[in-house]
Amino acid sequence: VLVLDGVAKQYGGLAALAPTSFSVQRGEFLTLLGPSGSGKSTLLKLIAGFESPSSGGIWLRSRDISGLSPAQRQLGMVFQSYSLFPHLTVAKNIEYGLKRRKWPSHRRRARVAEILAIVKLEHRAQAVPAELSGGQQQRVAVGRALACDPDVLLMDEPLGALDRTLRLEMESEIKRIHGELGTTFIYVTHDQQEAMHLSTRIAIMNNSQVVALGRPDDLFRNPPNAFTAEFFSDAT
Ligand code: ATP
Ligand code: MG
Repeated sequence: VLVLDGVAKQYGGLAALAPTSFSVQRGEFLTLLGPSGSGKSTLLKLIAGFESPSSGGIWLRSRDISGLSPAQRQLGMVFQSYSLFPHLTVAKNIEYGLKRRKWPSHRRRARVAEILAIVKLEHRAQAVPAELSGGQQQRVAVGRALACDPDVLLMDEPLGALDRTLRLEMESEIKRIHGELGTTFIYVTHDQQEAMHLSTRIAIMNNSQVVALGRPDDLFRNPPNAFTAEFFSDAT
């Protein structure tokens, strides 16, 4: 569904992302894994359209999206801080994007019910975010991002703000939702275990570059370079 061809980003003299090329198949769970400052968020922002590439092109379902605004791309986004609308109920938060896309009210209602079931928040539909736990708030954020049925769901360290127990629970929830929907997920983390558990493929990033890309068990068993080998050995 997604093709990056030589996508690069410079900030002044600093290369935040060296020319990067790879493609993502429909239904994949691709994780960008790497240390702080390695360019993970930069790459995700380029795909989302919050930043424009200094060079290279991005195609979504064979369509060049380089010139499109974030809203014009069929993408969902979830960030570390949930960025929910604090004054809106769970149901209204999920409905927000559907309204903006001018869905008629009966279809919106049906879709919100469907999403509430997927993220298991039927019983909290009328709560406002402040009344929810961190994990529940992140479920709302995932539900809101999925409501418009995006081609790709982008997530930047969505569990980073949660404590360990909640993180493990939400990890399983994200895996379950990916399995149920078959939506393409691109996920950013610096946690090796999380990446191994969730991903169909992992792109390992270091120094503004993708230094390895492959299936988790292949990367683990046959690391293609020293950085990958060390990175995984640190985890165990
Ligand atoms: P973290 O795990 O800490 O979130 P990251 O892998 O997401 O790190 P990026 O945010 O992509 O890293 O940053 C990559 C490099 O680009 C860093 O050196 C960063 O300082 C630089 N950078 C990112 N955004 C900007 C910006 N708006 N202006 C200047 N430099 C930037
Ligand atoms: Mg980041």
